[in-house]
This record gives sequence, C-alpha cells and structure tokens, in this order.
Amino acid sequence: MCNNRGSVVTRKDFLRASLALAAVPLLRHVPAYAAAPSSDSVELSEIAPGVFVHQGRVEMQSPENEGDMANAGFVVGSESVAVIDTLGSAVVGERLRNAVRAVTNKPIRYVINTHMHPDHVFGNVVFKEDAPAFVANHKLARGLGSRADRYLAMSKSMLGDKAFQGIEVVLPTVAVDDKMSLDLGGRTLLLETQKTAHTDNDLIITDSATNTLFLGDLLFSVHVPTLDGSILGWLAVIDTLKKRNAARVVPGHGPHAMELPEAFEPEQRYLATIVTDVRKLIKEGKTLEDATKTAGFEERDAWKLFDHYHVRNVTAAFAELEWA
Ligand SMILES: [Zn+2]
Repeated sequence: MCNNRGSVVTRKDFLRASLALAAVPLLRHVPAYAAAPSSDSVELSEIAPGVFVHQGRVEMQSPENEGDMANAGFVVGSESVAVIDTLGSAVVGERLRNAVRAVTNKPIRYVINTHMHPDHVFGNVVFKEDAPAFVANHKLARGLGSRADRYLAMSKSMLGDKAFQGIEVVLPTVAVDDKMSLDLGGRTLLLETQKTAHTDNDLIITDSATNTLFLGDLLFSVHVPTLDGSILGWLAVIDTLKKRNAARVVPGHGPHAMELPEAFEPEQRYLATIVTDVRKLIKEGKTLEDATKTAGFEERDAWKLFDHYHVRNVTAAFAELEWA
C-alpha cells in the first residue's frame, strides 16, 4: 500500500506528461532564473547553466513593442559577460541590460551582434557605458554603415518618437574575419562567420561550457524567414549547420531554444519551396510579377508575418535565380 499518494503516477499520467514534454521547445535544463517581464527588465530564461535568452515578440516593430521583436541573450563566465544581440531600440536594450545586471555584476566585456539588422543591433548604444568590445562579422560595419540612414528612418517611423529615443548606430570595434574565441573565464565563446545567407554578415556563436549554439537569423521559427542575402547560400549554410552536434540552438526569432536538426526543417522547406517554384516559373518564361503572386504561397499558413515578408523574399530569390 502506498501512503504517499502524490508519488503514484499512472501510466496514463506518465504518457500525458511525456507528450507535454515533447511539445515543449527544449528546456531540459530547469531554469535557475526565469524572470517575468517588468517595466525595467525583459523576460528572460536560463536555457543552460549561465546561458540566458530573452524571447522577442513575433511582430513588426511598433510603438507598443518598442522594438522588442528578436531574441537576445547573454553568457556569464567566471570573469565576464558577453551579450549576444541587443534588441531593436535603446528602450528595450536598457531593459536587457537591466536583466543582465539582475543576474550578475560581472563586467560586460563583449557585445556580439549576429548580423546587421536593426532589431538585433539598435540596443547596442546602452552598453557603451560598459565599454565593451563590440564584436561582429567583418562585413557588418560596411553593411550597417551603408544602410544606417535607411534603418534609422524606418525605425523612427515604425517605433514612433518615444520608442525611437536614444537609438544610435554603434558599429563593431572588433571584426571577426573567419573565427575568433572569446574567453569569459571558465568558458569560451567560439565565433564563426558564415557565407552569405540571411545577410552577408551572419555570425554564429557557440558556448563551450554548454555546447549552446546561437544562430541569429540563420534560424527562424514561427516568424517567416526574411531574405536579405542569398537564398542558395542560406540553404547551403543550413545543410552544414543541421549536422552540428549542438546540445541546443537559439534562433533569432522563435522559442528560447530548439534542437537540431529538426529546428531547421520548416525554414529549409520554406526556402527550398521558393527556389523550386521560382526556378520553374523562370523556366516557363514567367515574370517576377507572376512569381510574386504564386511562388511559395503553399507555405502561407505555416508562418507568422507571411504577408509582410513573403513577396519581398520571392522578389529577392527571383533576382538571384534569374542568373543562377
Ligand atoms: Zn535579421
């Protein structure tokens, strides 16, 4: 007889619990720290020991979300902290910085940007007071520098004056040509540039202590992928990255953490569908306009923000594949 009824778990309960677990996006590590969003700090989850991720909203930037629409994270070593992406405004960047400060007082020595897009870099400015090295792919400075005026104007009109306040373009002070290691004390971050894919300045980061891989926008989940580099290049990069043995990966948009290789499957299918459809239309002598009305539309229900980005993706793919 069992007096401790709480410990009795029926097979049905067990199966139900297993199913529930299977549906949860990879949070095997029980977070030691999980903060709810407050007015001065962002929501945060510790996805592995010392590895923290904030999940941005799957939305277009707006005065309401204040530029909080991408994932950002930080890794805490025994000596110092590295922040990986800084969200899309000074307002939410400051909340991310407060979230770091709520976890640790160790110095923020590195602010790493996974690529040039405003939703990942416009919070950089608030970390200037920490005097970190701003680290990025060697091509980021040129890419962001040449688009800065356009990015600033776009953010100003979409965020509104209040959420736009304080935004500055902060270019990298340390450029990664191929690979670079950053020692945080007791753990190392390995930074690797990638061939042109989501953009021409993508950078991935692996934490040695937990084998966590930050993919930036090379991995989209839920949020439709957005193409600003090369669709064929992106598919090639996915082929390689899928084979990594990372314990978990962090997407640029989507859940806090996911698992390889499944994490890439919807994105790979989406991009491959566009390539197949656009190639067929080009072969049939169809125009770009035809392509923007038909190519890849079978993917519409699989993604959020599809109507905001899909036509642009097809347009970019058409231009690339027309000459491929
Ligand atoms: Zn991006």
